[in-house]
Amino acid sequence: MRHVAVIGSGPAGYYSAEALQKELGEDVRIDIIDRLPVPYGLIRFGVAPDHQSIKAVSRRYEKVALSDNVRFVGNVMVGRDISIPELMELYDAVILATGAPLDRPLELPGSDLPGVIGSAAFVGWYNGHPDFADLDPPLGAEAAAIIGNGNVALDVARILAKTRKEFEGSDIVAHALDALEQSRIRTIHILGRRGPHQIAMTPKELGELGHLEDAAPNVDPADFPPEGDDALLEPGMRKSVTHLRDFAASNAAKRKTINFDFFAMPVAIEGDGKVERVIVERTMLDAELRSVGTGERYAIDCGLVVSCIGYKTPPIEGVPYEHGRGRFANSEGVIQDGLYCVGWARRGPTGTIGTNRPDGFEVAEKIAARFRDGTSAKFGRAGLDALLEGRGVDIVTFRDWQKIEAAEAARARAGSPREKFTHIDEMLDARGGAAG
Ligand code: NAP
Repeated sequence: MRHVAVIGSGPAGYYSAEALQKELGEDVRIDIIDRLPVPYGLIRFGVAPDHQSIKAVSRRYEKVALSDNVRFVGNVMVGRDISIPELMELYDAVILATGAPLDRPLELPGSDLPGVIGSAAFVGWYNGHPDFADLDPPLGAEAAAIIGNGNVALDVARILAKTRKEFEGSDIVAHALDALEQSRIRTIHILGRRGPHQIAMTPKELGELGHLEDAAPNVDPADFPPEGDDALLEPGMRKSVTHLRDFAASNAAKRKTINFDFFAMPVAIEGDGKVERVIVERTMLDAELRSVGTGERYAIDCGLVVSCIGYKTPPIEGVPYEHGRGRFANSEGVIQDGLYCVGWARRGPTGTIGTNRPDGFEVAEKIAARFRDGTSAKFGRAGLDALLEGRGVDIVTFRDWQKIEAAEAARARAGSPREKFTHIDEMLDARGGAAG
């Protein structure tokens, strides 16, 4: 019997467990450890609440979680409750699937003003992440600026633009739904430092903006290169640019506007004790398609800035880390003998949920090859339980999570699959409360 610890219960963690089961069958015991009492990481806290079809992938992870040789060990924080060297003593292999939950810093003058919020915090707020449940973003001004031209920028713009009715069927948390309903934001600027041909948005997500009840997307036709150049784009990108051209051609006027501000590089954020404006420099592209400032500057008045410029993995003491790329230093998923990484912790924050699956399989193959000779002298889960019990750590099991989930479903408002608990104490209470 071999013992593997997977740190992180998001997509990369569960795909790794699934792959290990396929590679090693009954000869492996897998503990999936998470710092929160609830599983699924990015699926629960990152994927937009109105994208329930994407969130449904958690049912696939549930199948893995319910198999006999896989265990969820929630409410255990590596670095606080147990260290990596201790885990490596207890398990034959340790896989870091910790994702990339930290914002890449904006590093502009004024980016520390109240009202400048990173996407991890903002997305965490509307998704009920315990770290951000009390964020209370300022929604009282007429305009908001979103920095970045990726899918997260689109998520944030859409969430700011939707009506209460459009959130029906979603699992947005009540505190966000109520605050967004009271929001006075009418103009949402999406600032891209390059042009329409350089966006990192995908067509399906972009197309959604054309069908909002109360908001219309707007693009300045002057920002496009000649239409013939679209033929040179790869098909997905061409579709996205077609959406942008449709937005530019449309004269739909709705109560809210989502403005795509291209060739707009934020250079400073200003305000008296809080955000009041973003100073933007117009850019052009150089021969390598990088943005270069033109020296022309203008101000965009706004009371909220959400920076959606990418994420990084939190470093763990003693684990080699690539600061430039914000991920663990690794060679094809191997950090060192017995220590591996998968998903965004391995590759950096790119790709869709499914992109994490091959990572899991690649690392599982490497682990299986290493296990082929010899047997294990590790204590695995029995050793973990003894150590955590000695430290007074209150482990949350998958059965506990099922009770929490049932309690969330029981308090859901009409049309919503659940009403999430947003504080760790509430989650732990729900486990006890629903037990009887
Ligand atoms: P992303 O796709 O890497 O986009 C980051 C954006 O930030 C880029 O447009 C980049 O512009 C811009 N940027 C970076 N630094 C900047 C700076 N200093 N100033 C101004 N702009 C800056 O990241 P993301 O949107 O966080 O998404 C992360 C991953 O999750 C992506 O793979 C994404 O597709 C995925 N995701 C998917 C979905 C979905 O499928 N529904 C939803 C959300 C996220 P440059 O190109 O000029 O560097």
